[in-house]
Amino acid sequence: MTDVWHHAQEQFFAVADRLKLSPAIKAFLSEPEVVHNFTVPFTMDDGSTRIVSGIRAQHSFARGPAKGGIRFHPGVTIEEVKALSMWMTWKCAVVNVPYGGSKGGMIIDYKALTRREQERATRAYARRLLPYIGPDLDIPAPDVNTGPREMAWICDEYSHYVGHPEPAVITGKPVEYGGSLGRTDATGRGVAFAVQRYFEIKGEPLERKRVVIHGFGNVGQWAARVLSKMGAIIVAVSDSAGGIHAEEGLNVEAAIEHKESTGRVSGFAGTEMSNEELLELECDILVPAALEGAIHAKNARKVGAKLIAEGANGPTTPEADAILEKRGIALIPDVLANAGGVTVSYFEWVQNRQRMYWTIHDVHQRLRDIMRGATDDVCRIANEEKVNWRVAAYLLGVERVAAAVRMTRADF
Ligand code: GLU
Repeated sequence: MTDVWHHAQEQFFAVADRLKLSPAIKAFLSEPEVVHNFTVPFTMDDGSTRIVSGIRAQHSFARGPAKGGIRFHPGVTIEEVKALSMWMTWKCAVVNVPYGGSKGGMIIDYKALTRREQERATRAYARRLLPYIGPDLDIPAPDVNTGPREMAWICDEYSHYVGHPEPAVITGKPVEYGGSLGRTDATGRGVAFAVQRYFEIKGEPLERKRVVIHGFGNVGQWAARVLSKMGAIIVAVSDSAGGIHAEEGLNVEAAIEHKESTGRVSGFAGTEMSNEELLELECDILVPAALEGAIHAKNARKVGAKLIAEGANGPTTPEADAILEKRGIALIPDVLANAGGVTVSYFEWVQNRQRMYWTIHDVHQRLRDIMRGATDDVCRIANEEKVNWRVAAYLLGVERVAAAVRMTRADF
C-alpha cells in the first residue's frame, strides 16, 4: 500500500502547480509536520505480551488543531497514515471546519482479538498517544475498525492523564459519554447529502436511481440507508468477503441486520457476486466505501457507474481517475463526499467545549447546510476552472490551507 502516499502527493503537487504556490509552501505542505511512530505493548488473555506498531501523523496545524481518525488494521503503514493525514487537511478545509489534518493507525488484526484484548490494545495505544493529543492540539476520531467504544476508552485514558474529564479530546464518543447525536451516521449521511445536491444541480431526480455500495461497514451502511430513504434503489452491496445483487432492490435494513449477525453480506437474499463483478454493474451511483485503491488502472475501464461518490478515503488511484474522466464518469471526491464525518466531529467538539448539546434536528440541519454549501462551492470552481470535481475540491481545500500558512511566515 505504499503507493498511496505517492498518490496523495501527486494529487497535491498537481494542484499546487495550478495554484502557483511558492516552492516553500509547496515543500512545507508536501509532508506531515510531525509523524509519531511508537511501539504498543499489551497483554493477551493467555498472559503473553504482544508488541505492535502505532503511528500518528499530523499533517497540518495551519488552520487549527489537527483532526483525524484512528484505524486498527493489519495493512496499516506509515505511508498510508501519512497520506490519510494529508487528505484530512484538505477535507477539513473543503468544508471549512477550523482544523488541520492528522491520522492514526495501529498495525494489528484487531478483529481477531477478544473484547478484553481489544480494550487493552486500545488503551495501550492511547497511552503512547497521550502527550501528542489534546482538545487544542490533535483530536482523534473513529476510522476503519474503530468506533464509539474505542473512543470512550481513549477519552478515559486521556481524562486520567490530565486529571479531569476532557470529552473534547476525541470525537465519535458514545452519546452517553459526551458524544453528539448523529455522529455515527454522519459520514454516510453526508455522502447522501452530497449526492442529493449533485442531482439537484444536474436537474435530475434522485428517486429510483440505482446505487451500488462497495464496502458495507459504517459508511456504506449509512449511505445505503439514507440514499434509500431519499428514494434511490440499492441494487448491490459488498464487503471484503464478496457481494450480493438484486436488480429490483435490496431491503437495506434486512441486509444490515444480516451483516451484523453473520459478519458478512454474503448469504443474504440476492445473487452472490465478487467485488470485481460488483464494480462492473451498470448503475447510476457507485459508492466505494471500503479501503484505498479499490478502483485502479486495471478495473477503471470496466466500472459500470455513471457517478462515483467516494465514501472511503482514496478509493480511486490517479491512473483510474484519468481513465474515468476520459470515459465521462462523474465523481464526487472523498474530501467532499465523506466530509460529513469530520463535520459532525466538529459539532461534537463544539458541544463538548460549550457544555451545551444540540438536538438531532440541529445536527442534521447544519450537516445538510455544510454539505450542500461545499458541494455548490466545488461545482462552481469546477465550472469556472473547467476541471473535474476532484481537482476543484483540491483547489478549494489546498488554497484555504495555503492562505493560512502564508500568514505565518514572510518568506512563504
Ligand atoms: N475518519 C473519518 C474521516 O476520515 C472522520 C475523522 C474525524 O471525524 O475526525 O474523515
